[in-house]
Amino acid sequence: MEPENRPFWETKTLDEMSQDEWESLCDGCALCCLTKLQDDETDEIVYTSVVCKYSDTKTGACTDYANRSVNVPTCVQLTRERVAEFDWLPDTCAYRMIYRGQPLADWHPLITGQRESVKQAGVGIAAIPVVLDNGKLDYEDFLMEKP
Ligand code: SF4
Ligand code: SF4
Repeated sequence: MEPENRPFWETKTLDEMSQDEWESLCDGCALCCLTKLQDDETDEIVYTSVVCKYSDTKTGACTDYANRSVNVPTCVQLTRERVAEFDWLPDTCAYRMIYRGQPLADWHPLITGQRESVKQAGVGIAAIPVVLDNGKLDYEDFLMEKP
């Protein structure tokens, strides 16, 4: 395919993308919403299957996205500057895949044209067992492999 006919995610770096292009890269998997624990001594980050109370576990959507950093102070905002440093993001995260020079997954909505293709591929919090945080959980009981 000629370069001018190729989609933006194949021809642009993350820094070159428009705001709309940048936002369309998010596949809505919400795996970045899974609560993570960091080892005080080694800084190692481990995933748990716990999600905050604002998470819609059926769709992966945040039910109060505009106020997420107020509602959940540990809710991290992904920016272009931080993609490189956020190596804890899921391996399937489109931002990390583009950052690593990989093609988008064949289930990505930009490829399929359908948001549902993420869940259908078994990816995202709507496709795996997760636990809603009730404020009384011991996160250590819910450790899981990095998705
Ligand atoms: S892991 Fe990446 S692609 Fe998935 S919701 Fe988070 S930012 Fe979007
Ligand atoms: S506040 Fe919203 S975006 Fe942040 S972790 Fe909870 S569900 Fe995810």
